[in-house]
Amino acid sequence: MTTAGEPAPAAGVAALLTGSRCPACGAAFFPPRQVCSRCLGKLEEAPLSARGTVYTHTVVHQSAPAFETPYTLVYVDLPEGVRVLGQLAGEARIGMEVELEPDEQLGFRFRPVGEGS
Ligand SMILES: [Zn+2]
Repeated sequence: MTTAGEPAPAAGVAALLTGSRCPACGAAFFPPRQVCSRCLGKLEEAPLSARGTVYTHTVVHQSAPAFETPYTLVYVDLPEGVRVLGQLAGEARIGMEVELEPDEQLGFRFRPVGEGS
């Protein structure tokens, strides 16, 4: 279900993440939550776009033993207005377009658009 003003997931790319959307004020959230922090309205589930833009990034050199270092972490702005933290397969640049892909260990991660698809 898509309502006016709500961006639909990019064509050909299945939604991988589900967030929350407020039917009263339009605010979006990720991870999903029950109540809108803007207007206290009850939220409904909403699929999030699979593509977004890198807001900022860093390289992690020390982590839990389960994670092979170094790896790149990115904050990605999705069209719905939410910012999602995740690993990026590859080198990051602020403003670059990335898309979600499933990941066995992490659940999801990002990759630069146009690579590996
Ligand atoms: Zn609201």
